[in-house]
Amino acid sequence: SSAPPPAPHLSGPGREALLPVVGGDLEVPLVGGGRARHANLDYAASAPSLVTVAEQVAQLLPYSASVHRGAGFGSQVCTAVYEGARAEVGRFLGARRDDAVVFTRNTTDAVNLLAHCVGHTAGRSARVVVLDLEHHANLLPWSAVRRRVVAARPTPEETLDALATELRAEPTALLAVTGASNVTGERLPLARLAALAHASGARLFVDAAQLAPHRRIDLAGLDVDYLALSGHKLYAPFGAGALVGRRDWLDAAPPYLAGGGAVREVTVTSVAWADAPARHEAGTPNLPGAVALAAACRALGALPADALVEHDEALRHRLVKGLAGLPDVRVLSRWPAATGISSTGTAATGTSDTDTGVGAPVGVVTFTFAGDRAAGAATDLAAAYLAAEHGISLRAGRFCAHPLLDQLGAPAGALRASVGVGSSAADVDRLIEALDLFLTSGP
Ligand code: PLP
Repeated sequence: SSAPPPAPHLSGPGREALLPVVGGDLEVPLVGGGRARHANLDYAASAPSLVTVAEQVAQLLPYSASVHRGAGFGSQVCTAVYEGARAEVGRFLGARRDDAVVFTRNTTDAVNLLAHCVGHTAGRSARVVVLDLEHHANLLPWSAVRRRVVAARPTPEETLDALATELRAEPTALLAVTGASNVTGERLPLARLAALAHASGARLFVDAAQLAPHRRIDLAGLDVDYLALSGHKLYAPFGAGALVGRRDWLDAAPPYLAGGGAVREVTVTSVAWADAPARHEAGTPNLPGAVALAAACRALGALPADALVEHDEALRHRLVKGLAGLPDVRVLSRWPAATGISSTGTAATGTSDTDTGVGAPVGVVTFTFAGDRAAGAATDLAAAYLAAEHGISLRAGRFCAHPLLDQLGAPAGALRASVGVGSSAADVDRLIEALDLFLTSGP
């Protein structure tokens, strides 16, 4: 099997740092004894690590020593590397100088930490407004405070209006929204959301688990107050993510997890907690995770500004167009008119931010089958067939967004194809051809 052509738009300086990704040329066994290059179209679940990430973690490992806990040589190296990683993550996200960057396990951990802090700062009656299209990670943690779920409307504009109305209706501590949907890839304009939240005295939290791998984010420029992301979706391994944002709420709450490292002074009867970020990082930190996340941030940040977007949009467009050409396939969209998908889930045209006031969706495309294959089992079967007979990875299921799948008319589940820096047009074409085979002659 020959290697596919390089991704069409990732050809500027910095490309070497990104390609190949670890596992990008993995060969997979097929049913019947054949082999094929793995076509990974499941970046939205977890992305393979970049080579540069693996190299930087390997360089660190000989120094395993306690971070922030010793004056020895190893400890000094590890502490400096850990704090350097923190600064790198903040830089990548355009954080303000006084923002806190707290290392967490992942986005879920970060949202739970922020929910804990909101509850302590603004009280358990603090009101948090979310949309009904969120990943469970940005729906469930807020039930500890007073969560108000707003239904997304048929257009982004109407959805923004509905949020504005809700924020005006009652004092609200926080508006918490996804940066890009993990189901449809669709997104709302963050600067407008921030202005809307701030006009009502609320802050804005962005779940950037899916946005950060696809688009540059500038927290200060957009005036976003808090952001969470996961390293494993950003070309680093599992186990490290971050919560980034304004430190006052983080300093006002007791530690999320109590223990060593989170304190300034302890007696048997009292404790003075450290300020954020240490306050919320009790216990020995995940140094390789932090280094990996920072290395991924550095590599992505080194890409020419438009390269990532062009690559992502070109592949998304190819995916939607290819799917639209297949019989009985319906692409799911919350805002079809604004994001280039017809109401029947088929036609695909490019959209620009200026046309619609909403950014073009990221490279995450979810679809279902119509006709005889509309039942959920067909999507599981299709995913298994694509994997076993074509070496293609994509995700079948409900994507931890059950309410959204219900609204989109796919309560039994769907299939999701998602692209990343290692994806190519050939990967997309292979999926479309394999799906065509499945639909015309498959089981
Ligand atoms: N938010 C979104 C939009 C996601 O796509 C995901 C993961 O699928 C999460 C949050 C949760 O991420 P993690 O499982 O890394 O905590």
